[in-house]
Amino acid sequence: MSENLEDVDNLMKNEYSVDALDCLACGKRLWNVHDDCRNQPGEALSFTTHGAYGTTVFDPDDGHYLEINICDECMREARARKRVYIGRDFRLIMRGGMVMGQEAIPMQKLRLWKDDE
Ligand SMILES: [Zn+2]
Repeated sequence: MSENLEDVDNLMKNEYSVDALDCLACGKRLWNVHDDCRNQPGEALSFTTHGAYGTTVFDPDDGHYLEINICDECMREARARKRVYIGRDFRLIMRGGMVMGQEAIPMQKLRLWKDDE
């Protein structure tokens, strides 16, 4: 069986997806929650960066970006070790208990992400 057919076969068995990246921190194998997405990991978060001033590894400043996954377990551990900031840059527009959209708000100052959030 070719590698591609094995990947499809494993996807059908729901063992893993070929398209979800492993956790960057611990290497845990992650799966896609939607088969039609390239990288929508279950029990994990996906992060993107276009680079940043100060890095020596990636800052193309031309629209290219990197995407990584970190599993929920590693995120909880990072939060407990006070290694994650939380911020906010939009709020939901609600009418009659329904979400009608979202609107940008002034970016709030970053602060440590707490266990109860
Ligand atoms: Zn992990």
